[in-house]
Amino acid sequence: MIPRQRRGMWTSKVRQKKSFSVPRKPRTQNEDFSAALLPVTCGAVKGVLHKEKFKQGIFVKSIQSEDGDWYTPTEFEILGGFGRSKNWKLSLRCYNWPLKSLIQKDFLPNYPRKYGKRKKMQNSDKCEVCRNGGTLFFCDTCSRAFHEECHIPTVEAEITPWSCIFCRIQSLGSQQSLPESEVLQRQMVAQEQLKCEFVLLSIYCCSESSFFSKIPYYYYFRETPVGVKKMMWLDLIKKKLRERDYSHVEGFVQDMRLIFHNHRTTFKDPKFGQMGLGLESEFEKNFKEVFAIQDSNGNS
Ligand SMILES: [Zn+2]
Ligand SMILES: [Zn+2]
Repeated sequence: MIPRQRRGMWTSKVRQKKSFSVPRKPRTQNEDFSAALLPVTCGAVKGVLHKEKFKQGIFVKSIQSEDGDWYTPTEFEILGGFGRSKNWKLSLRCYNWPLKSLIQKDFLPNYPRKYGKRKKMQNSDKCEVCRNGGTLFFCDTCSRAFHEECHIPTVEAEITPWSCIFCRIQSLGSQQSLPESEVLQRQMVAQEQLKCEFVLLSIYCCSESSFFSKIPYYYYFRETPVGVKKMMWLDLIKKKLRERDYSHVEGFVQDMRLIFHNHRTTFKDPKFGQMGLGLESEFEKNFKEVFAIQDSNGNS
C-alpha cells in the first residue's frame, strides 16, 4: 500500500493522453530531489521511486505504483504507455522533470543505455560460459555475452531489457548466513532456483566441466562400476533444474555431490582424479558463497 499522506502529490486535474511525445508542463524550481522517495509519473500513471532500490540497478523493481505493485523503470514506462520509446530516462518524470535531468544533477545514479546490442554477432566477443564465439546474446545491464543454451536458464530472447544471471544474483543483495543443514531444507522458490542455476553455471564456466557434462562413459558398458549407485552428469542436472524437478535445494546439492562421488569411485588415475577434485572444491566454494553458508565454526 502507498502511504496515505503521499496521495496528495498525485492529484492531477489533467489526464494526459497516451502518446509518444511528452507534453510540456510547467516545472517548479525548488522541489526536493534529494528525498529518499520521489513521486514519478509516466503519462497518466503515477508512482513513487524508492532511491535505495533504484541504486541497486535498473533491473530492480524500484517504483511502486498507486496500486501498490512494484515496477522496474522500463516496466513503469510500459505501464504508462511509453514502452515503444524505450527511453525511460525521458518518459519518466519527477515534478515534470525527466529523470535524465535528475541523473545529470547526480540525484540519481546513471545507467548507460545498452539496448539493442543483443543477438549480434561480433567475432571479438566470447560466450561467458564456453569461451566460444558465434551467435551471442548480450546482457542489457553488464557487458557479458552468452550462447542461448549456455546461459542458465536459457536466454529469454523476447525480454527487453534482459539481465544475465550474474546481474540477477547481484541484485539479491546480502543475505543472513545460516548452517548448511538449514539451507538444504529450503524449498526451491524463485530465489533458491536462481542461486542453484548460478552455482551450476559457475561450474560450466570451468574448462574441466566438459568431462562431467555428458552421461558417464560406463553407461555404454551396460554395467555400472562398483560403488556407483546412480549415474549423474551436469547436463542432466541442468535439465532437471529447467523442468523444476527439484523441490528443495538439497536435491540439487545431492546430485552435484553425486557426480564427484562417482568420479572418485571410478577414477583411480591420479591425473583425472585431480581434475575431479578441482571442480569439486570449486563447487563447494561457490555453493557456500552464493547461499551464504556458515562455517562450521560459526563464522559466515
Ligand atoms: Zn557458450
Ligand atoms: Zn549481466
